[in-house]
Amino acid sequence: MTANGGRIGIIGGGVAGLTTAYRLLQKGHQVHLLEASPQLGGLVRTFEIGGGKIECFYHHLFSTDTTVIRLIEELGLGDQMVWRESKLGVFYKDRIYPFVTPIDLLRFTPVSLVDRVRLGLMGLYLRRQKDGSRYEQVTVKEWITKFAGPRNYEVVWGPLFRGKFGDLGDRIAMIWFWNKIRLRFASRKAGPMQKEVLGYLLGSFSVYIEALIARIRELGGVLEGGRPVQRIVAEGGRAVALEVGGDRPERLPFDVVIATVANKIFQRIAPPLPEEYATKLEGVPYQDAMCLILALKKQVAPTYWLNINDRSIPFLALIEQTNFIEPEQYGGNHVLYFSNYLDKASPLLQMEVDEVWELYKPHIKRINPDFDEDWVVDRWLFKGPDAQPVFTVDSVGRVPDHRTPIDGLYLANMSQIYPEDRGQNYSIMMGEHVAQLVAEDLAGGSDKPS
Ligand SMILES: Cc1cc2nc3c(=O)[nH]c(=O)nc-3n(C[C@H](O)[C@H](O)[C@H](O)COP(=O)(O)OP(=O)(O)OC[C@H]3O[C@@H](n4cnc5c(N)ncnc54)[C@H](O)[C@@H]3O)c2cc1C
Repeated sequence: MTANGGRIGIIGGGVAGLTTAYRLLQKGHQVHLLEASPQLGGLVRTFEIGGGKIECFYHHLFSTDTTVIRLIEELGLGDQMVWRESKLGVFYKDRIYPFVTPIDLLRFTPVSLVDRVRLGLMGLYLRRQKDGSRYEQVTVKEWITKFAGPRNYEVVWGPLFRGKFGDLGDRIAMIWFWNKIRLRFASRKAGPMQKEVLGYLLGSFSVYIEALIARIRELGGVLEGGRPVQRIVAEGGRAVALEVGGDRPERLPFDVVIATVANKIFQRIAPPLPEEYATKLEGVPYQDAMCLILALKKQVAPTYWLNINDRSIPFLALIEQTNFIEPEQYGGNHVLYFSNYLDKASPLLQMEVDEVWELYKPHIKRINPDFDEDWVVDRWLFKGPDAQPVFTVDSVGRVPDHRTPIDGLYLANMSQIYPEDRGQNYSIMMGEHVAQLVAEDLAGGSDKPS
């Protein structure tokens, strides 16, 4: 410890790492953050289309995301937030079904009227349940099939779980789904139509990330991109330094190290960990994310978010950003994301942008038969390793503590957000929580409670 608080090394410059850095600097500590990629922001990183910034992976907020909203306001950017009604749809058997209001649900003819009513009742029932712990040991498949019937699982939910979580889709813990439904309902306006509203920061979420970066630097924090941490060095059972690779390999001494990287990366760079902790790290599998993005001359679908409930189509959802945010923000282009979550072994992850486009192209005509390749102005492909932790019934009790068994070494990553689905809101909340833990431990003269 120096006179100016502890020297804290943070691994990873996503929203969790940046928030932890900001809060610790505000508490008077010295912070040095090391990010492997050249760009800070992690999964919220952006690029440009038509002169406007846009996320490499689509992002919006729910009105329940109060921690990120509070941070955006604290950074003086609250007036740049916009809230819009979401346009959600389901693509099933070559037809788009709107899927927002109770009336849309009643018109969803792929399942019988009785099943539609059961589906509606399921949502109403789940949103009223206050305690999700009894859903920890039951799978989504078992619970939905029992409550809403096998056809609703087969047509509506099963394809989405299997698309998002691969072979583990049917084993997702019901607590994860309960939580998701509860939050989605809470993001709806009151009234019979119950329209959902979604939030966006005009200019992209990079606006708040950049403001956060500027604040951190004003407070004396050091933030560096292109600086992959290769090893967390421990001596006598406590973390003492980081070995950084890249162009300028060096060893940097620290009093405390906070890692915000995925479990597998953490295990690779951390000192040997006791078996109990290591087993927990291994207990939560991850899926990679992959987004193909098209800039287009025309609109493809009428929806912002179109779930593809047909597994013969090789992508999971179409997110048409410009049905949410005006094309003028992107130089007049229409912008379409093709979303996929994939197992690391998936051959799609080996493909380049043109190969992915060739694979997806025939299917887009099923969604809009008028689609013409001439509409495509440009295309990009982004891959996000370990972007989605998978919470199956086997994950219960396996969430690793933020305080690791190595003194002075903390972990704050998306697998610890259980049972919430990962999102900016929860990474920020976790960053604030871990900053508080570290500050308390340093003030108490030890890094771990006795
Ligand atoms: C397709 C997709 C859609 C999403 N949609 C939304 C949405 O609509 N709304 C929402 O709120 N959230 C959404 N999210 C989730 C949101 O992006 C994440 O929850 C959040 O960004 C996670 O932040 P993080 O800091 O915890 O992790 P990350 O952003 O993953 O940050 C970890 C960082 O660690 C770095 N790193 C890894 N190894 C090393 C190393 N050895 N040394 C140094 N650095 C290293 C990585 O490069 C990365 O920058 C979405 C995510 C995806 C993938």
